Amino acid sequence: MPGTDAISVVDTPVVDVMGRPLRDLRISVTDRCNLRCTYCMPRAVFNENHSFLPRAELLSFEEIERLARQFVRLGVRKIRLTGGEPLLRRGIEQLVERLARLQTTAGAPVEIALTTNGVLLARKARALKDAGLARITVSLDGLSEATFRRMSDTDTPVRTVLDGIAEAQRVGLAPVKVNMVVRRGVNDHEIVAMAGHFRNSGMVLRFIEYMDVGCSNGWRMDEVVPAREMLDRIADRYPLRPVDPNYAGEVAVRWHYADGSGEIGVIASVTQAFCHECTRGRLSTDGRLYTCLFATEGLDLRAPLRAGVAEDRLAALIAAGWQRRNDCYSQQRQAMAGAGAAAKKIEMSYIGG
Ligand code: SAM
Ligand code: SF4
Ligand code: SF4
Repeated sequence: MPGTDAISVVDTPVVDVMGRPLRDLRISVTDRCNLRCTYCMPRAVFNENHSFLPRAELLSFEEIERLARQFVRLGVRKIRLTGGEPLLRRGIEQLVERLARLQTTAGAPVEIALTTNGVLLARKARALKDAGLARITVSLDGLSEATFRRMSDTDTPVRTVLDGIAEAQRVGLAPVKVNMVVRRGVNDHEIVAMAGHFRNSGMVLRFIEYMDVGCSNGWRMDEVVPAREMLDRIADRYPLRPVDPNYAGEVAVRWHYADGSGEIGVIASVTQAFCHECTRGRLSTDGRLYTCLFATEGLDLRAPLRAGVAEDRLAALIAAGWQRRNDCYSQQRQAMAGAGAAAKKIEMSYIGG
C-alpha cells in the first residue's frame, strides 16, 4: 500500500485538501431494493439482467464494524446506514447494535441513523430502536397512490410507508424526518399537499432537489425544481420564517411555519451547492471509500481488511484517502450552468444515498 507509511494518523481528526474534516460516514449495506424509484434505480436498468453484488462481495457486519471504528478514530461522529434499501439486509438491527457501541475519541457516543423507503419499517422500527438507532429518515415522494407509483414504480400502497413512519414515531425514533425528492412534472404538484400532511405532526419534512447521481436516471436540469421555487409555493399557502442551522455544515436549510405548526427543510444540492462544507465519506456495499456522491472511483478497503492488515494501517489508508480529497462536483456543476460531467458516475444504490 504505497503512500500510507508516511502518515501519522492514529486518533487524530483528518482534513482534506480544502480543509474539510471527515465527520459523517454513510454506509451502504446492500445494493438491492424493493422499490424501483425512477430517479434512482429505474426498472429498465435494474431488472433481472442487472448484476447485483454476490453475497461474498458484501462487507460482513464484523467487517463494517472494524472499518467504522477506524473512521471514528479519524473524526467521524455520525454514521448513517443506507443503500439500496437497508431494511432488506437481514439482521440489520444487529449491525445497529454493534455500531451504537462505538465512541468518539472524546468518549461521546457515535450517533447512528438510517435512511429507508419505509416499506418494511412498521415491522422493524421497534427492533431498530432497541438496538440503539438514534434517528431515522424515511423517503416518501407523494401521498396519492398515483404519484407514489409514478415516483417509486411499485404496487406497494402509500399506506404501508405511512404506517412505517407512524410506528417509528410511536417507538420513539422521533422526530422522524421525511425526505421528498421533487421532480418537475412528476410529483411537484404534491409539494403543498405533503407540507399540509406533515404540519402539526412533529415530523420534519425535507424537500430535495433532484440530482444527477449515477448514469441511469436520464437526469435533465429542467426536471429540477429549485429549492427557492419550492419554498415560494409552500409559503404561498403556509407562511414560513427562516431558522438557524442546528450545527455548522447542516445540508438542509431549515424553515418554521410562521403559525408554529412545525418545521421543514430544503436541500438545494443542485442550485445552492454546499461542497465547501461537505464532511461526508461513503462506504460502498463492497467496502470502497468514496469521498463524493459523484465520484467515479473509490478506495478499496475490503482487500486490505480481508488480507488482515493491522487497524492502524487501515486507519492510515483511510486518512490518506481523505487527505487527498478535493471533490466539489456540485459547485462545478453550478459553475457549468447545470451541465453534469460526462464521466461514468457511480449509482446511488451502490455508493449509499
Ligand atoms: N432506499 C432508501 C431510501 O430510499 O430512503 C435509502 C437509499 S436512497 C438512495 C437515499 C436517499 O437518496 C433517498 O431519500 C432518495 O430519495 C435519495 N435519492 C436517490 N436518488 C436521488 C436523486 N437522483 N436525487 C436526489 N435524491 C435522490
Ligand atoms: Fe430504492 Fe431508495 Fe433508490 Fe428508491 S431511492 S430505488 S427506495 S434505494
Ligand atoms: Fe459533497 Fe460531492 Fe455533494 Fe459536493 S457534490 S456536497 S463534495 S458529495
